[in-house]
Amino acid sequence: MKPASQKGKEIVSNVPPRFCVDCKSVIYEAESETCPVCGKSLSNVLTQSEVSLCSKDAHNRDIDGYNRSQNALCFIVIGTICLAIGIFFVFLALQKKFNKIVGVNFLSLQFFVACIGIGAGLTCIIIGGINLYKAIKKRKSAQRDILVLGNLKEKPSK
Ligand SMILES: [Zn+2]
Repeated sequence: MKPASQKGKEIVSNVPPRFCVDCKSVIYEAESETCPVCGKSLSNVLTQSEVSLCSKDAHNRDIDGYNRSQNALCFIVIGTICLAIGIFFVFLALQKKFNKIVGVNFLSLQFFVACIGIGAGLTCIIIGGINLYKAIKKRKSAQRDILVLGNLKEKPSK
């Protein structure tokens, strides 16, 4: 038996990640004995069917993350188009007097369209950006779980 003082970072990192069968979470913290997500106690040994179940869930999360990232990209594209239209209408709203630009006509329809376009465009881009960030994070964690579960699947067959 190794003394407790030797349980440094190197040893902790060698502890394989564990899985919560109840909520399909992968737990990378070596210290926790219970699932930090649902509170159920964790077992170190998983049956092959439990591994498959966790793996299936991880794949579903990966697909969901992919769909969400595509959806977020849609928002960004639509937002960019709205923003471009808005900026274009700012130029249309410019007022000329004696062939010189004297400013923006704030009471014109063009300026109204510009405001709507820029507002909607920025909103879509911000929403899309936040959703894209979340989706990428979700996919990364799912892919890490898939990798870990894949290694686990191969071992018992030897
Ligand atoms: Zn759990």
